[in-house]
Amino acid sequence: MIILGLESSADKLGVGIVSSDGEILANLRKTYKPPRGSGVLPREASEHHAKNISGLIKDAFELAELQPKDVDLIAFTRGCGMGPCLRVAAVAARTLSAQLNKPLIGVNHQVGHIEIGRMITNFEDPVVLYVSGGNTQIIAYTEGRYRVFGETLDIPIGNCLDVFGREAGLSDKDAPMGRVVELLAEKTNEYIPLPYVVKGMDLSFSGILTATLKELKKGTPTDVLANSLQETVFAMLTEVTERALSHTRKSEILVTGGVAANSRLKEMLNQMATEHGASFSGLPAPLAIDNGVMIAWTGYLMWATGQRPGSEDYFVDQHFRVEDVEVTWRSSSDNARIAKAELS
Ligand code: AMP
Ligand code: MG
Repeated sequence: MIILGLESSADKLGVGIVSSDGEILANLRKTYKPPRGSGVLPREASEHHAKNISGLIKDAFELAELQPKDVDLIAFTRGCGMGPCLRVAAVAARTLSAQLNKPLIGVNHQVGHIEIGRMITNFEDPVVLYVSGGNTQIIAYTEGRYRVFGETLDIPIGNCLDVFGREAGLSDKDAPMGRVVELLAEKTNEYIPLPYVVKGMDLSFSGILTATLKELKKGTPTDVLANSLQETVFAMLTEVTERALSHTRKSEILVTGGVAANSRLKEMLNQMATEHGASFSGLPAPLAIDNGVMIAWTGYLMWATGQRPGSEDYFVDQHFRVEDVEVTWRSSSDNARIAKAELS
């Protein structure tokens, strides 16, 4: 089977093509850039995606050396995400499905991140730390579903780093803001205490951001603030991930999402994993940040294990939660079911 995956839930537009044996045939992406000093403007981002989606799909087919008619299944991100952005991929997917007379399947964004992670790392059953511009969640599989063990109570980690970077006057012209903050943090080991807010299994980043911006106004050097902010928020994430690992008695940790590119975060998680005798892995950046491949692959797993969406599933759901998805492809007989679907 050949599966096309379309992702447009936030600032990135992704088009992926995979085969059912897990070969990645294309993984293309275009990123909307907000006006300087501003965060993602959903309306503008959706206009960017609408303008680029047909060209990007065409490029993906060219790269994969395939024709649209070769596609067997079209997958798109149903949610969660920003409504106007999500609708771009959903509309394109519905149109293509009607034109090509090929089935359509809506995919949960988080499940996409997890499944591409499992496929690439060969991890069987990891605790997943998902850290991005729009999300911060600690997720693990129990009893037929992925469940959120902890999450941010306010702003996402990536947003916290991005706002700090913007207020500190850093430019994200040449690299994502989180990367620019990371490079600045590497310039010093000096550390000032900032509020460390873990509530049970949940995290809060807005207080620490406010405190950091207050220090910035007082004239505390930006490298000291970048370092202190990173050390504090990454320690918070590591603490909650560690607790999820202990509670679930799992033995693998996967980190994904845009912030997962951060070396210091990976270092802390790796050290914690080693202390528990657990395996740790990140993902190559093109598969850790939002992408169409993860949607295509997850759409395939759903389809191959018998999921057939109703017409209501063809529409987006901004608040689609990871635990709303029945994970049909991980039962003990999942491989047999997938193999059977291949034959039919
Ligand atoms: P995503 O929402 O998954 O596309 O990820 C985007 C987020 O990842 C933004 O907040 C970026 O600033 C952040 N990011 C990218 N690279 C890094 C890095 N090296 N360290 C920390 N954050 C990063
Ligand atoms: Mg994402």
